[in-house]
Amino acid sequence: MTKTADSVWNNCLAFIKDNISSQAYKTWFEPIKAVKLVEDALSIQVPSKFFYEWLEEHYVKILKVALTKEVGENAKLVYIIKMENTYGNKMPFTEKIPSANRSKLHSQEIDVAIKNKSPELKNPFIIPGIKNVKIESQLNPNYNFDNFLEGESNRLARSAAMAVANKPGGTSFNPLLIFGGVGLGKTHLAHAIGVEIKDKYPEKTVLYISTEKFTQQYIDAVKKNNRNDFIHFYQIIDVLIVDDIQLLSGKVGTQDVFFHIFNHLHQNGKQVILTSDKAPVDMMDIEQRLLSRFKWGLSAELNHPDYDTRVAIIKNKLFRDGVEMPDDIVEFVANNIKTNIRELEGAIISLIAHSSFNKKDITIDLARKIVDNYVKHTKREVSIDYIQKIVSDYFQMDVETLQSKTRKRHIVQARQLAMFFAKKLTKASLASIGSQIGQRDHATVLHACKTVDNLSCTDKQFRKYVEDLNKKLTL
Ligand code: ADP
Ligand code: MG
Repeated sequence: MTKTADSVWNNCLAFIKDNISSQAYKTWFEPIKAVKLVEDALSIQVPSKFFYEWLEEHYVKILKVALTKEVGENAKLVYIIKMENTYGNKMPFTEKIPSANRSKLHSQEIDVAIKNKSPELKNPFIIPGIKNVKIESQLNPNYNFDNFLEGESNRLARSAAMAVANKPGGTSFNPLLIFGGVGLGKTHLAHAIGVEIKDKYPEKTVLYISTEKFTQQYIDAVKKNNRNDFIHFYQIIDVLIVDDIQLLSGKVGTQDVFFHIFNHLHQNGKQVILTSDKAPVDMMDIEQRLLSRFKWGLSAELNHPDYDTRVAIIKNKLFRDGVEMPDDIVEFVANNIKTNIRELEGAIISLIAHSSFNKKDITIDLARKIVDNYVKHTKREVSIDYIQKIVSDYFQMDVETLQSKTRKRHIVQARQLAMFFAKKLTKASLASIGSQIGQRDHATVLHACKTVDNLSCTDKQFRKYVEDLNKKLTL
């Protein structure tokens, strides 16, 4: 029988599967596709550069054994990296990298179809002497790797973060984008990277900044006519950490300036770390050229923690605070608060506070009451009816008015705000939001979300509405 790429690779897989954990197999081998077999060289397609590095680091030995068994001593392995798609589902850019030398699976084939880096750019802005400016890194030392507990839900993100901290700017995870839902540890992990880098490389300039603050600084700079100073300042940073970049949504000017800063840092081998509550594909109103850069490095997701991780996080917190709590209470809380680590911690803190304030033991009853507060509120969050009610109340109209076909401006605004929050706070699709808020179509909802984003940048009063409503809906 003649050997094909598929037959060889399937035999390799069978061998590998028997020798590693099923979780590892699923994560690292199932996504691989065999592409071609030319003489003794097997080409396999991997989803990202990160994948390739991980395989080289952890599985190169077993790959070698498996492949040698199939095609003999001259076996070669060629990785083809499927870059993340930039625009929808068009052709992937591909890139081939030889297997690293230490693997002895030499492959001489290098064929780089796309290069991200343009030649070193001269920077016309550098101000002589500015290198000596001391920059406060704004890091919170309490957010470090030691107290960021590892679990299945964060393993990839955590190890990528460690890799970046060990070699800032020196891995292919640049930028490193950490994304995931609210309260899952994005900010913590982002700080941990900065704290670790400061520890290992004290001479490096590290800066943590929230997107909100960055935007504000930029607006001030424009007002004061020193946009260039603003840019220079950011261009001298070695490790830039920007938290919650989904908030760049709709802010064209800030996106533009961030784009320039990003390019400069990236071209100079500086590390950029970003966090977002959405995957790049789901970020609304962010320019494609920026989104495509977010995807250059690695996007690592923080998922909901599993039960064991939740228990471990609670126990770790209790230990650090020097508080004892019976196991059945810890388990009760971990069993009931599943999707948000901040809430998990909040419930534990409330429990401790209640019991010490009232000088009472922590009982299951008390735990149930406290957990109820958290869980109820999470349930409340997801209902579009609730959102419509709160928004209508806020603008002193009734829900029917909010849903009506009228074009009166303040009613239209209320309706758009309801749509905006439904998109933000629920998992409902645009179409379903539209049908629940006055029988509109998905385009109307999309338009509403954009309008709210835009208005909250340009109109102070409107921004206040958004903030007030946000508080009411999420508290
Ligand atoms: P996000 O930025 O994703 O909303 P945060 O980073 O603010 O979330 O995390 C919320 C809380 O949960 C913080 O107090 C953080 O320390 C804690 N936390 C999150 N993940 C972990 C973890 N893996 N181990 C320990 N604490 C964690
Ligand atoms: Mg955060």
